[in-house]
Amino acid sequence: MSSYTLPDLPYDYAALEPHISARIMELHHSKHHKAYVDGANNALAQMAEAREAGNFANINRLEKDLAFHLGGHVNHSIFWTNLTPNANGAPEGELESALQEFFGSVESFQAHFTGASMGIQGSGWGVLSWDPVGARLIIQQLFDQQGNTAQGTIPLLQLDMWEHAFYLDYQNVKADYVAAFWKIVNWENVQQRFAAARSGASATLLIS
Ligand code: MN
Repeated sequence: MSSYTLPDLPYDYAALEPHISARIMELHHSKHHKAYVDGANNALAQMAEAREAGNFANINRLEKDLAFHLGGHVNHSIFWTNLTPNANGAPEGELESALQEFFGSVESFQAHFTGASMGIQGSGWGVLSWDPVGARLIIQQLFDQQGNTAQGTIPLLQLDMWEHAFYLDYQNVKADYVAAFWKIVNWENVQQRFAAARSGASATLLIS
């Protein structure tokens, strides 16, 4: 019995070309994302064994494994839906208004998000999140798959800055990768996540 399953992509592996190649998409989804799903299920199974045996000698490793792999599963599940081959170019409506309110302008938001994403030291993600405590949008740097973000913040838009996400296409030129990302953002998906997060919907992460 597995708790987590690899979701299908909402488009073909080649659909995001020329911005992201089919080769990267296939590896990224079928190998990397699948490894996170398997790793999360494996951590849960080993925790069950530990409880059964009453032996928690390895619990620190297992908790770290669960955080890393479940983080990877959630992050990629969101990321795929944040992208679309039919990008409409710019945020509209309530999302556009909120970006203006909390970042000054859409352009200023994009500059901040780009800077935060490109500045990540090591592997991680740039993330636009809804913070229910301050009732506002914030930008976070997510380290690895699970670090450096506050509990309870709800991710709306994520950019994978791990080298596996871009190196085959862009080598070390992160700026070109991020510029390509902006051309394939699914703003409708971000808007749906924003509306759900702001209304407190409990199933926000499940939006596809
Ligand atoms: Mn990735």
